Amino acid sequence: TSDYRVAVFGAGGVGKSSIVQRFVKGTFNENYVPTIEDTYRQVISCNQKNVCTLEITDTTGSHQFPAMQRLSISKGNAFILVYSVGNKQSFAELGPIVEMMKEEKGNAILSTPIMLVGNKKDEESKRDVGTAAGQKIANLWGCGFIETSAKNNENITELFEKLLAMEKSR
Ligand code: GDP
Ligand code: MG
Repeated sequence: TSDYRVAVFGAGGVGKSSIVQRFVKGTFNENYVPTIEDTYRQVISCNQKNVCTLEITDTTGSHQFPAMQRLSISKGNAFILVYSVGNKQSFAELGPIVEMMKEEKGNAILSTPIMLVGNKKDEESKRDVGTAAGQKIANLWGCGFIETSAKNNENITELFEKLLAMEKSR
């Protein structure tokens, strides 16, 4: 088996914890519970023969602790960058995190699996960031892209499958 560290980044309230909870426990909570920083382990099949242990770090997402962000980046093998499709500001806030990743990882960033995630796709009436805009930024950053709903359990498994597929294809 191999260990694989995934860190989840994004502004407060976009649904980072909800995505991780949905993936790891299959549950969803309507309430906002601010996160300190939590790590979860999930055993998954990563190709036909092997199982991997995914160690998922759900970060605070806050800019108050850049040192912690840097540490999570340096420890991480793969990254999930989350914004809410109903919140343009949360989309804009991912830029500096990507810059920090480039700084920390150097050339290795080119072989690091990264998924850009537009969460809360169920709230179509509140949409503020189009699917095309998300896809465009993902292309620019050289990462994968998916829109999810932790609430309705849409594309959550697919998100992690895509992330791991990026690892294999590189
Ligand atoms: P975090 O700060 O990024 O970890 O965000 P949370 O996971 O704590 O979620 C913040 C709020 O958004 C909570 O009230 C969640 O119930 C809600 N939320 C999370 N994901 C979704 C989603 O896919 N759709 C909707 N409608 N609400 C969501
Ligand atoms: Mg959280």
